[in-house]
Amino acid sequence: RAKRLERSSFLFYAPEMNQRLQETLELEEALRQALEQEQFLLLYQPKVNLVTGQICGCEALVRWQHAQRGLISPAQFIPLAEETGLIVPLGDWVLRQACAQTCQWRDAGLQPVPVAVNLSARQFRKGDLTQRLQSILQHSGLAAGELELELTESMIMDNPQQAVQIMHELKQLGLSLSLDDFGTGYSSLNYLRRFPVDNLKIDRSFIRDVATDTSGASVVTSIIQIAHNLGLGAVAEGVETRDQLDFLRRCGCDQLQGYLFSKPLPAEDFAALLREGRSLTPPI
Ligand code: C2E
Ligand code: MG
Ligand code: MG
Ligand code: MG
Repeated sequence: RAKRLERSSFLFYAPEMNQRLQETLELEEALRQALEQEQFLLLYQPKVNLVTGQICGCEALVRWQHAQRGLISPAQFIPLAEETGLIVPLGDWVLRQACAQTCQWRDAGLQPVPVAVNLSARQFRKGDLTQRLQSILQHSGLAAGELELELTESMIMDNPQQAVQIMHELKQLGLSLSLDDFGTGYSSLNYLRRFPVDNLKIDRSFIRDVATDTSGASVVTSIIQIAHNLGLGAVAEGVETRDQLDFLRRCGCDQLQGYLFSKPLPAEDFAALLREGRSLTPPI
């Protein structure tokens, strides 16, 4: 009560802050309710093997199904979820849902592909991460090898030593790890060599420029070489054009993800694509 009064008198004297704070509080409250009512949805975007053109994995991407505002993209609520700590229960929901869905596909007779889930910094740092993951895997019946976690350089470089420790624990569970948005952060090569990750996902901003800009192209070539020299896979995100595909093929990139192949899809549509089993890359 006293807190509320204090807050409202403060609001009275600072009208613009008042409005922003009010909006944030409303969004936070809405997010809390959305979690209780499970108003979230996962879309699945295929990852394509560049050599075979076959789907070799997928990334689960969360959406908020808002009663009035329709589908809200993660950029609009993940930062607030992160700030308020709501990302932990939301992230657990995403993990449970992605694992359950993947098992369901397998039970329906589909050739299962690994599912990748994005972790936020707060989830990554929370002490009981490996125990929670273990219990989520056990409940769902998904094999650890079928779950991949996407981490970003910035959440690792906050405290690289501790991060390396957590990554080793995750690897011990049997999970795969990817470094997402690679190239936009600032991990030193010295650290990169010590990260027990399986794949580097080259950020979309570099892929955008490969066909038009020689320096963009050389960044991508270099990242793919670094990945391969360290024994890691190279994944390109945000592939939209045939030119980008041809370039990535010449560089020997391993996996591709982007609108050229498919947008993120509702579960049924992704399952239909898996069932078809056709090659998603155009012939050379
Ligand atoms: P991200 O992990 O880098 O995911 C890739 C984003 O690029 C997705 O945006 C995807 O829809 C988009 N994308 C894929 N292919 C293309 C393309 O060819 N062109 C363009 N322009 N975009 C493409 P989305 O779904 O809006 O997600 C944005 C970010 O939100 C993700 O970036 C990720 O960092 C975060 N995010 C999404 N789901 C979750 C989640 O469950 N938990 C957490 N912590 N973060 C999430
Ligand atoms: Mg990702
Ligand atoms: Mg990414
Ligand atoms: Mg990105």
